[in-house]
Amino acid sequence: MDGIRGIAQEVMALLLASSCPGCDRVGTLLCDDCRWRLVADPLRTISPGGLDVHAALAYEGVAARCIRRLKEDGATLLARPLGGALRSVLAAQAPAGALVVPVPTGHAAYRRRGYRVPELLVGHAGFTPARMLRAARPTGDQRGLGREERARNVAGSLRAVRSGGGRQVVIVDDVVTTGATLDEAARALRAAGFRPICAVALAATPVRRDTREIQVNG
Ligand SMILES: [Zn+2]
Repeated sequence: MDGIRGIAQEVMALLLASSCPGCDRVGTLLCDDCRWRLVADPLRTISPGGLDVHAALAYEGVAARCIRRLKEDGATLLARPLGGALRSVLAAQAPAGALVVPVPTGHAAYRRRGYRVPELLVGHAGFTPARMLRAARPTGDQRGLGREERARNVAGSLRAVRSGGGRQVVIVDDVVTTGATLDEAARALRAAGFRPICAVALAATPVRRDTREIQVNG
């Protein structure tokens, strides 16, 4: 009994010391208001390479703060609500029998975090991540790079670990910005004989949506 009471007290202390990642409200791991903002509100874009990209959330506000906490601060508890948002889009887009292939995490990021964010999200979305891609070479940090620099940075950086034999795949990443990484994943999978049918991301940056509007209008 003492042991259980001790654990309960520790959990209580942890809860009281925590704050909502979305709004900083204290005494909660994720408040109800912010939880509602993590319900999928899907948006669709097209990558520069012509891949259909479906995102569950816009990368802004509460969603962006929660995703950053998951990616940068080890808040793996957030993989559950965020994985729930991913699930609704993935379930709608992945045909039966298609492999769900997460974009692989670079060695440096994996060493720093101890977990692979896209793979963690796919698992929490109720799908089995198919590790069909590996890094073929290290890449620089994509942050701060423009569209063409990003494409150059990731070109040829991934390879498939086996041949696909025409198998359909859906590629999954956490945040899509320009779509350069998703295009590289699709290229590597096609080269090995897979058939990428679309990509699903947890979130898309608003920049990405603006860019599409410009492309559509112009
Ligand atoms: Zn909150």
